[in-house]
Amino acid sequence: MKNNLLEFLGRDSGFGEKNNSAYIEMENKLIIIDCGFTVFEQLKKRFDFTKYENIEVIITHLHNDHAGSLSQLILYLWFMHNKKTTVYSKCSRIKEYLDITGTPTASYEIKDESENLKFIKTEHVEHLDAYGFKLKINDTNIVYTGDTNTLEPFMQYLDDVNEFYVDVSKFGGAHIKIDDVLEILRKIKSNGTSIYLMHMDDKEYIEDVTKKEFYT
Ligand SMILES: [Zn+2]
Ligand SMILES: [Zn+2]
Repeated sequence: MKNNLLEFLGRDSGFGEKNNSAYIEMENKLIIIDCGFTVFEQLKKRFDFTKYENIEVIITHLHNDHAGSLSQLILYLWFMHNKKTTVYSKCSRIKEYLDITGTPTASYEIKDESENLKFIKTEHVEHLDAYGFKLKINDTNIVYTGDTNTLEPFMQYLDDVNEFYVDVSKFGGAHIKIDDVLEILRKIKSNGTSIYLMHMDDKEYIEDVTKKEFYT
């Protein structure tokens, strides 16, 4: 993968080895995108949390492979590092989720947007609200779909986007089926947007069918 804004901790689908999750490390600030059940261990090994003034976690939806170690991370930062986590999420039940996992209210704050972050509501599974987002860091604009079964909500945001991160799969259903979006992804790429595929259930198949035209 070439130089891009996001560094990935994992790009596997929900039953894979490493949950789909990424981060952006800045001076004084660490932004983490999703915090599934495999993520806390990785974060703890990789980062010296004392370095950052702000730790922000963007949560796209509440499936376990995206939020399964969120409470653990917040508790760890609160009790071991005296740091309050900022959670960016529009999930309707995010507060309830943190409450039932025993996360003290004082240890985090929830925000649903910032000057540089706008959530984009999408369709994923019937019983859970799910969001992608548009994020601007310095001069780079990215759009990140989160788990989605459609590209439709994101199309209107792609005009000035440098990097587009897309959930794709071999089989479709709750996720975009790669064969269904090949042409549209080629068109987006031809407009100058770099395309990064993620949350892959079968990387080999996806690389084969896309002929490695996109970053995987
Ligand atoms: Zn997922
Ligand atoms: Zn999901």
